[in-house]
Amino acid sequence: MIITKTHSLFDVIYERKLLTTFSLLLTFGTFILFISLSNFYIAFASHLEVNTTKLTDSMYVIHGSGGNVILSIGNDGIILVDDQYAPVTKKMESVIANITNKPIKFIINTHWHPDHVGGNERFGEAGVIIVSHENVRKRLSNDQFFEMINQTIPALSKKGLPIITFSDNMTFYQNNDEIRINYLDNGHTDGDSAVYFTDNNVIHVGDDFSDRSYPFMDLSSGGSVDGLISSLQSILSMTNKDTKVVAGHSGISNQTKVKDYLNMLIDVTGVISNMIKEGKSLDEIIQSKPTSKYDTIYQDYSFIKPKDFVTNIYESLNSNK
Ligand SMILES: [Zn+2]
Repeated sequence: MIITKTHSLFDVIYERKLLTTFSLLLTFGTFILFISLSNFYIAFASHLEVNTTKLTDSMYVIHGSGGNVILSIGNDGIILVDDQYAPVTKKMESVIANITNKPIKFIINTHWHPDHVGGNERFGEAGVIIVSHENVRKRLSNDQFFEMINQTIPALSKKGLPIITFSDNMTFYQNNDEIRINYLDNGHTDGDSAVYFTDNNVIHVGDDFSDRSYPFMDLSSGGSVDGLISSLQSILSMTNKDTKVVAGHSGISNQTKVKDYLNMLIDVTGVISNMIKEGKSLDEIIQSKPTSKYDTIYQDYSFIKPKDFVTNIYESLNSNK
């Protein structure tokens, strides 16, 4: 495991996504309302940490403050899946430099959320080829209202946009691996892809799965619970019992836990759907605690609490009507 800690205020100040990050941290109940913005920048920068976990001889996961990043290294160069929050990008580069001196050749974005594409502008400017589903490029090209944080996320500049897009799937033959990018259904957003490194048997599933927290369907970005169920079924069909499953925001997981997650989602959605048909209100559904038997498993409530998850499903089902 490699850990780097550098505290550069400049790293943070030059980034254009600060307000987004600021809002996200507010949701975690930070105390920063009472300190100046510049002090916040310093406090935030000092807590940024990037570390890695080795997956196979040629692959790593990079963990930071945003979504997990996959690093594939080989004779063809480096391939990244996602690129964290913008303020972490320089630290990520130094972590990568400690592992290899190969150049970064491609970045594949699993979806458009800022904690997964924050490095796009910096890497794109450096000539890295960014690849994504066409809906990701569409959303990154225009300001997006992100309902969960009640904020508009500004469009990326041209240098941060994917320059190769696909509508269904795409395969890379790089680093002695066959890397399949499969577009999933409208689950977490309407641009979700899973990236499967066939020979290494490693898959990045973006934010469609977590082994420790309930899912979030970003309805403002075209997500839906039905789509997430379908996406998890697709992910299962791509994997086997030995596949290392990398989720956006949890540890290295496996197919069994994806199956458990799918079963949980089908179960809870079924209960809520039946209660809606019986005419129950959202409050009544929340009070019935339809997630209770799963709460000890998906207990990382820093992002999604059980009542938020229930509300999310309720709103998704109602939006289908
Ligand atoms: Zn996301």
